[in-house]
Amino acid sequence: MKKRLIFDAHLDLAMNAIEWNRDLTQPLQEIREREMNMGDKKDRGKGTVCLPSLRQGKIGLVVATQLARFRPRGSSLPGWNSPQQAWAMTQAQLTWYREMEKINQMVQISNLSSLEQHIEMWEDDAISDADKPVGYILNLEGADSLVDLSYLETACSYGLKAIGLSHFGPGRYAPGTRMEGPLTPQGIALIRAMNELVNTPQQLILDVTHLTDRGFIQALDLYQGPVWASHHNVRALVPTQRQLTDEQIKILIDRGAVIGAMFDCWALDIRFITEVSDPWQLNVRLEQIVDHWDHICQIAGNSEHIGFGTDLDGIFGTEQSPHDLDSIADLQKFEKILHHRGYKDVDIDNIFSGNFLRFIRRVWK
Ligand SMILES: [Zn+2]
Repeated sequence: MKKRLIFDAHLDLAMNAIEWNRDLTQPLQEIREREMNMGDKKDRGKGTVCLPSLRQGKIGLVVATQLARFRPRGSSLPGWNSPQQAWAMTQAQLTWYREMEKINQMVQISNLSSLEQHIEMWEDDAISDADKPVGYILNLEGADSLVDLSYLETACSYGLKAIGLSHFGPGRYAPGTRMEGPLTPQGIALIRAMNELVNTPQQLILDVTHLTDRGFIQALDLYQGPVWASHHNVRALVPTQRQLTDEQIKILIDRGAVIGAMFDCWALDIRFITEVSDPWQLNVRLEQIVDHWDHICQIAGNSEHIGFGTDLDGIFGTEQSPHDLDSIADLQKFEKILHHRGYKDVDIDNIFSGNFLRFIRRVWK
Protein backbone atom coordinates (compact mmCIF):
# COMPACT_ATOMS: atom_id res chain seq x y z
CA MET A 1 0.00 0.00 0.00
CA LYS A 2 1.13 3.53 -0.79
CA LYS A 3 2.40 5.32 2.31
CA ARG A 4 1.03 8.71 3.21
CA LEU A 5 3.37 11.61 3.83
CA ILE A 6 3.82 12.41 7.53
CA PHE A 7 4.60 15.75 9.16
CA ASP A 8 6.13 15.65 12.67
CA ALA A 9 5.91 19.02 14.44
CA HIS A 10 8.54 18.34 17.10
CA LEU A 11 11.92 16.60 16.95
CA ASP A 12 15.13 17.57 18.75
CA LEU A 13 17.34 16.30 15.92
CA ALA A 14 20.33 18.60 16.42
CA MET A 15 20.35 18.09 20.18
CA ASN A 16 20.70 14.37 19.55
CA ALA A 17 23.47 14.96 17.04
CA ILE A 18 25.49 17.36 19.17
CA GLU A 19 24.77 16.58 22.85
CA TRP A 20 24.07 12.82 22.44
CA ASN A 21 26.80 12.51 19.80
CA ARG A 22 24.52 10.58 17.45
CA ASP A 23 25.32 10.46 13.74
CA LEU A 24 21.74 10.58 12.52
CA THR A 25 22.76 9.76 8.95
CA GLN A 26 23.39 6.18 10.14
CA PRO A 27 20.78 3.41 10.50
CA LEU A 28 19.19 3.11 13.96
CA GLN A 29 20.86 -0.24 14.61
CA GLU A 30 24.32 1.27 14.18
CA ILE A 31 23.55 4.27 16.38
CA ARG A 32 22.30 1.90 19.10
CA GLU A 33 25.27 -0.42 18.79
CA ARG A 34 27.73 2.42 19.30
CA GLU A 35 25.99 3.25 22.60
CA MET A 36 25.81 -0.28 23.97
CA ASN A 37 28.32 0.28 26.76
CA MET A 38 27.49 3.90 27.55
CA GLY A 39 25.66 4.77 30.76
CA ASP A 40 25.84 8.56 30.79
CA LYS A 41 22.18 8.98 29.78
CA LYS A 42 19.19 6.73 30.48
CA ASP A 43 18.21 6.43 26.82
CA ARG A 44 21.58 5.20 25.54
CA GLY A 45 21.12 2.43 22.98
CA LYS A 46 17.37 3.10 22.92
CA GLY A 47 17.02 5.86 20.32
CA THR A 48 14.14 5.68 17.84
CA VAL A 49 14.98 8.51 15.43
CA CYS A 50 17.50 8.84 12.60
CA LEU A 51 17.33 10.18 9.05
CA PRO A 52 17.06 6.75 7.35
CA SER A 53 14.14 5.84 9.67
CA LEU A 54 12.41 9.15 8.95
CA ARG A 55 12.62 8.37 5.22
CA GLN A 56 11.49 4.81 5.75
CA GLY A 57 8.37 6.11 7.55
CA LYS A 58 7.82 8.77 4.84
CA ILE A 59 8.19 11.48 7.46
CA GLY A 60 9.36 13.93 4.87
CA LEU A 61 8.91 17.16 6.78
CA VAL A 62 9.57 17.93 10.44
CA VAL A 63 9.79 20.88 12.77
CA ALA A 64 13.31 20.59 14.16
CA THR A 65 14.51 22.38 17.24
CA GLN A 66 17.33 24.45 18.52
CA LEU A 67 17.30 23.93 22.26
CA ALA A 68 19.59 25.19 25.02
CA ARG A 69 18.44 26.27 28.47
CA PHE A 70 20.00 28.80 30.83
CA ARG A 71 20.40 27.56 34.38
CA PRO A 72 20.21 30.23 37.07
CA ARG A 73 22.30 29.89 40.22
CA GLY A 74 20.75 27.37 42.60
CA SER A 75 18.71 25.51 39.94
CA SER A 76 19.13 21.75 39.97
CA LEU A 77 18.01 21.34 36.33
CA PRO A 78 20.63 20.82 33.64
CA GLY A 79 21.40 23.90 31.56
CA TRP A 80 24.08 26.39 30.59
CA ASN A 81 25.44 28.82 33.17
CA SER A 82 25.19 31.87 30.92
CA PRO A 83 22.89 32.95 28.07
CA GLN A 84 25.97 33.29 25.87
CA GLN A 85 26.83 29.61 26.32
CA ALA A 86 23.21 28.68 25.55
CA TRP A 87 23.33 30.79 22.38
CA ALA A 88 26.60 29.13 21.34
CA MET A 89 24.98 25.71 21.72
CA THR A 90 22.03 26.68 19.51
CA GLN A 91 24.54 27.88 16.90
CA ALA A 92 26.34 24.53 17.03
CA GLN A 93 22.96 22.89 16.46
CA LEU A 94 22.28 25.20 13.50
CA THR A 95 25.68 24.31 12.06
CA TRP A 96 24.76 20.62 12.23
CA TYR A 97 21.56 21.26 10.24
CA ARG A 98 23.64 23.16 7.68
CA GLU A 99 26.07 20.23 7.42
CA MET A 100 23.11 17.89 6.78
CA GLU A 101 22.01 20.20 3.99
CA LYS A 102 25.46 20.12 2.39
CA ILE A 103 25.29 16.33 2.03
CA ASN A 104 21.63 16.41 0.89
CA GLN A 105 20.35 14.60 3.98
CA MET A 106 18.13 17.51 4.98
CA VAL A 107 16.77 20.70 3.45
CA GLN A 108 15.56 23.81 5.25
CA ILE A 109 11.98 24.85 4.48
CA SER A 110 11.29 28.48 5.31
CA ASN A 111 8.94 29.84 2.66
CA LEU A 112 5.97 28.82 0.58
CA SER A 113 7.85 28.02 -2.64
CA SER A 114 10.38 25.77 -0.91
CA LEU A 115 7.48 24.08 0.91
CA GLU A 116 5.50 23.35 -2.27
CA GLN A 117 8.60 22.12 -4.09
CA HIS A 118 9.45 19.84 -1.19
CA ILE A 119 5.95 18.35 -0.89
CA GLU A 120 5.88 17.75 -4.64
CA MET A 121 9.18 15.86 -4.42
CA TRP A 122 7.95 13.71 -1.52
CA GLU A 123 4.72 12.90 -3.39
CA ASP A 124 6.69 11.90 -6.51
CA ASP A 125 6.82 8.09 -6.65
CA ALA A 126 9.39 8.14 -9.46
CA ILE A 127 12.04 9.02 -6.86
CA SER A 128 12.72 6.53 -4.07
CA ASP A 129 11.95 7.94 -0.60
CA ALA A 130 15.39 6.69 0.47
CA ASP A 131 16.95 9.34 -1.79
CA LYS A 132 14.87 12.28 -0.57
CA PRO A 133 16.20 14.85 1.89
CA VAL A 134 14.13 15.34 5.05
CA GLY A 135 12.73 18.86 5.16
CA TYR A 136 12.99 20.84 8.37
CA ILE A 137 11.31 23.98 9.67
CA LEU A 138 13.40 25.61 12.38
CA ASN A 139 11.91 26.09 15.85
CA LEU A 140 13.53 27.46 19.00
CA GLU A 141 12.29 25.45 22.00
CA GLY A 142 12.65 27.83 24.94
CA ALA A 143 14.02 31.31 24.29
CA ASP A 144 16.70 31.39 27.05
CA SER A 145 19.47 31.40 24.43
CA LEU A 146 18.36 34.73 22.92
CA VAL A 147 20.88 36.81 24.88
CA ASP A 148 18.78 39.92 24.22
CA LEU A 149 16.07 40.93 21.75
CA SER A 150 18.60 41.84 19.04
CA TYR A 151 19.31 38.09 18.75
CA LEU A 152 15.77 37.55 17.49
CA GLU A 153 16.66 39.42 14.31
CA THR A 154 19.72 37.21 13.83
CA ALA A 155 17.60 34.11 14.35
CA CYS A 156 15.03 35.30 11.80
CA SER A 157 17.84 35.95 9.31
CA TYR A 158 18.85 32.26 9.39
CA GLY A 159 15.26 31.11 8.96
CA LEU A 160 13.78 30.64 12.43
CA LYS A 161 10.04 30.18 11.90
CA ALA A 162 8.63 29.20 15.30
CA ILE A 163 9.49 29.98 18.89
CA GLY A 164 8.49 28.74 22.32
CA LEU A 165 9.23 30.99 25.27
CA SER A 166 9.91 28.34 27.89
CA HIS A 167 11.05 24.77 28.44
CA PHE A 168 11.50 23.15 31.86
CA GLY A 169 11.81 25.11 35.09
CA PRO A 170 12.50 28.82 35.43
CA GLY A 171 13.15 30.57 32.14
CA ARG A 172 14.55 33.98 31.27
CA TYR A 173 11.44 34.78 29.19
CA ALA A 174 8.81 32.61 30.86
CA PRO A 175 8.60 29.90 33.50
CA GLY A 176 8.04 26.46 31.97
CA THR A 177 6.91 22.95 32.75
CA ARG A 178 6.55 22.13 36.47
CA MET A 179 6.45 25.86 37.32
CA GLU A 180 3.71 28.40 37.83
CA GLY A 181 3.42 32.11 37.23
CA PRO A 182 3.45 34.76 34.52
CA LEU A 183 5.82 35.66 31.69
CA THR A 184 8.84 37.68 32.77
CA PRO A 185 9.12 41.34 31.66
CA GLN A 186 11.64 40.11 29.06
CA GLY A 187 9.06 37.60 27.82
CA ILE A 188 6.48 40.34 27.37
CA ALA A 189 9.06 42.41 25.47
CA LEU A 190 9.86 39.40 23.27
CA ILE A 191 6.20 38.94 22.31
CA ARG A 192 5.96 42.66 21.53
CA ALA A 193 9.00 42.27 19.26
CA MET A 194 7.33 39.25 17.61
CA ASN A 195 4.21 41.37 17.06
CA GLU A 196 6.33 43.74 14.97
CA LEU A 197 6.98 40.84 12.57
CA VAL A 198 3.35 39.76 12.13
CA ASN A 199 2.31 39.81 8.44
CA THR A 200 5.92 40.21 7.29
CA PRO A 201 8.01 37.39 5.72
CA GLN A 202 9.72 37.01 9.14
CA GLN A 203 6.43 36.31 10.93
CA LEU A 204 6.92 33.76 13.70
CA ILE A 205 4.65 31.01 14.96
CA LEU A 206 4.31 31.16 18.74
CA ASP A 207 4.58 27.67 20.20
CA VAL A 208 2.57 27.51 23.44
CA THR A 209 3.96 24.12 24.50
CA HIS A 210 5.77 24.29 27.88
CA LEU A 211 4.09 27.53 29.05
CA THR A 212 2.48 27.72 32.49
CA ASP A 213 -1.30 28.18 32.62
CA ARG A 214 -0.85 31.85 33.39
CA GLY A 215 1.81 32.25 30.74
CA PHE A 216 -0.48 30.57 28.20
CA ILE A 217 -3.30 33.09 28.69
CA GLN A 218 -0.92 36.02 28.85
CA ALA A 219 1.01 35.00 25.72
CA LEU A 220 -2.17 34.44 23.71
CA ASP A 221 -3.62 37.78 24.85
CA LEU A 222 -0.45 39.61 23.85
CA TYR A 223 0.51 37.84 20.65
CA GLN A 224 -1.26 38.89 17.46
CA GLY A 225 0.31 36.29 15.15
CA PRO A 226 -0.20 32.57 14.50
CA VAL A 227 0.01 30.04 17.35
CA TRP A 228 0.32 26.27 17.62
CA ALA A 229 1.03 23.68 20.28
CA SER A 230 3.82 21.63 18.75
CA HIS A 231 3.89 18.69 21.21
CA HIS A 232 1.05 18.69 23.68
CA ASN A 233 -1.57 16.21 24.94
CA VAL A 234 -4.85 16.44 26.85
CA ARG A 235 -5.07 17.19 30.59
CA ALA A 236 -8.55 15.69 30.94
CA LEU A 237 -6.99 12.31 30.11
CA VAL A 238 -3.62 12.66 31.83
CA PRO A 239 -3.80 15.23 34.62
CA THR A 240 -0.51 17.13 34.71
CA GLN A 241 0.25 20.81 34.22
CA ARG A 242 2.26 19.96 31.07
CA GLN A 243 -0.97 19.04 29.24
CA LEU A 244 -3.73 21.23 27.74
CA THR A 245 -6.99 21.87 29.59
CA ASP A 246 -10.25 21.75 27.60
CA GLU A 247 -10.48 25.54 27.96
CA GLN A 248 -6.98 25.94 26.48
CA ILE A 249 -7.86 23.55 23.64
CA LYS A 250 -10.93 25.68 22.84
CA ILE A 251 -8.84 28.84 22.78
CA LEU A 252 -6.30 27.19 20.46
CA ILE A 253 -9.02 25.95 18.11
CA ASP A 254 -10.50 29.47 17.97
CA ARG A 255 -7.05 30.76 16.98
CA GLY A 256 -6.81 28.19 14.17
CA ALA A 257 -4.02 26.28 15.89
CA VAL A 258 -2.92 22.69 15.30
CA ILE A 259 -1.93 20.54 18.28
CA GLY A 260 0.79 17.91 17.82
CA ALA A 261 0.45 14.69 19.86
CA MET A 262 3.53 13.74 21.87
CA PHE A 263 4.66 10.18 22.51
CA ASP A 264 6.41 10.42 25.89
CA CYS A 265 4.84 7.67 28.07
CA TRP A 266 4.00 9.92 30.99
CA ALA A 267 1.92 12.09 28.65
CA LEU A 268 -0.14 8.99 27.79
CA ASP A 269 -0.51 7.28 31.16
CA ILE A 270 -0.22 9.13 34.47
CA ARG A 271 0.76 5.87 36.19
CA PHE A 272 4.12 6.16 34.42
CA ILE A 273 4.85 8.96 36.95
CA THR A 274 2.83 7.76 39.93
CA GLU A 275 3.35 3.96 39.83
CA VAL A 276 5.83 2.33 37.50
CA SER A 277 7.96 3.81 34.69
CA ASP A 278 7.65 0.88 32.31
CA PRO A 279 5.65 0.96 29.05
CA TRP A 280 5.41 -2.86 29.02
CA GLN A 281 4.01 -3.22 32.54
CA LEU A 282 1.54 -0.40 31.91
CA ASN A 283 0.81 -1.63 28.39
CA VAL A 284 1.30 1.85 26.90
CA ARG A 285 0.47 1.54 23.18
CA LEU A 286 0.40 3.82 20.16
CA GLU A 287 -3.39 3.60 20.11
CA GLN A 288 -3.56 5.71 23.31
CA ILE A 289 -2.52 8.70 21.20
CA VAL A 290 -5.87 8.35 19.43
CA ASP A 291 -7.71 8.92 22.74
CA HIS A 292 -6.07 12.37 22.92
CA TRP A 293 -6.88 13.11 19.28
CA ASP A 294 -10.49 11.96 19.82
CA HIS A 295 -10.85 14.32 22.76
CA ILE A 296 -9.65 17.31 20.74
CA CYS A 297 -11.83 16.33 17.75
CA GLN A 298 -14.89 16.22 20.01
CA ILE A 299 -14.17 19.77 21.19
CA ALA A 300 -13.44 21.02 17.66
CA GLY A 301 -16.27 19.13 15.98
CA ASN A 302 -13.82 18.01 13.26
CA SER A 303 -10.35 16.47 12.72
CA GLU A 304 -8.68 19.68 11.57
CA HIS A 305 -6.68 20.66 14.65
CA ILE A 306 -4.55 17.59 15.38
CA GLY A 307 -1.34 16.08 14.10
CA PHE A 308 1.96 14.54 15.17
CA GLY A 309 4.44 16.34 17.44
CA THR A 310 6.05 13.14 18.65
CA ASP A 311 9.08 14.54 20.52
CA LEU A 312 10.66 11.09 19.99
CA ASP A 313 14.25 11.00 21.26
CA GLY A 314 13.46 14.17 23.23
CA ILE A 315 15.62 13.00 26.18
CA PHE A 316 13.93 9.56 26.12
CA GLY A 317 14.01 6.43 23.96
CA THR A 318 12.16 3.11 23.80
CA GLU A 319 12.19 2.90 27.63
CA GLN A 320 9.68 5.77 27.69
CA SER A 321 7.77 5.33 24.42
CA PRO A 322 4.71 3.18 23.57
CA HIS A 323 6.00 -0.40 23.49
CA ASP A 324 4.71 -1.05 19.96
CA LEU A 325 7.04 1.64 18.59
CA ASP A 326 10.60 0.62 17.83
CA SER A 327 11.52 3.38 15.39
CA ILE A 328 9.88 6.56 14.22
CA ALA A 329 9.06 4.73 10.96
CA ASP A 330 6.34 2.98 13.00
CA LEU A 331 4.24 6.16 12.77
CA GLN A 332 2.89 4.52 9.60
CA LYS A 333 1.10 2.04 11.90
CA PHE A 334 -1.44 4.80 12.55
CA GLU A 335 -2.97 4.20 9.12
CA LYS A 336 -4.38 0.91 10.43
CA ILE A 337 -4.96 2.10 14.01
CA LEU A 338 -6.99 5.11 12.87
CA HIS A 339 -9.06 3.12 10.37
CA HIS A 340 -9.78 0.64 13.13
CA ARG A 341 -10.97 3.50 15.37
CA GLY A 342 -13.38 4.70 12.69
CA TYR A 343 -11.37 7.54 11.16
CA LYS A 344 -12.01 8.12 7.45
CA ASP A 345 -9.30 8.61 4.82
CA VAL A 346 -9.83 12.37 4.88
CA ASP A 347 -9.27 12.43 8.66
CA ILE A 348 -6.10 10.36 8.34
CA ASP A 349 -4.82 12.74 5.66
CA ASN A 350 -5.55 15.64 8.01
CA ILE A 351 -3.66 14.04 10.89
CA PHE A 352 -0.68 12.70 8.94
CA SER A 353 0.21 16.04 7.36
CA GLY A 354 -2.82 17.93 6.05
CA ASN A 355 -3.60 20.03 9.11
CA PHE A 356 -0.08 21.27 9.74
CA LEU A 357 0.51 21.89 6.03
CA ARG A 358 -2.70 23.89 5.75
CA PHE A 359 -1.68 25.91 8.80
CA ILE A 360 1.79 26.67 7.43
CA ARG A 361 0.47 27.57 3.98
CA ARG A 362 -1.91 30.05 5.59
CA VAL A 363 0.82 31.56 7.75
CA TRP A 364 3.42 31.86 4.99
CA LYS A 365 1.21 33.10 2.16
ZN1 LIG B 1 9.51 19.80 24.75
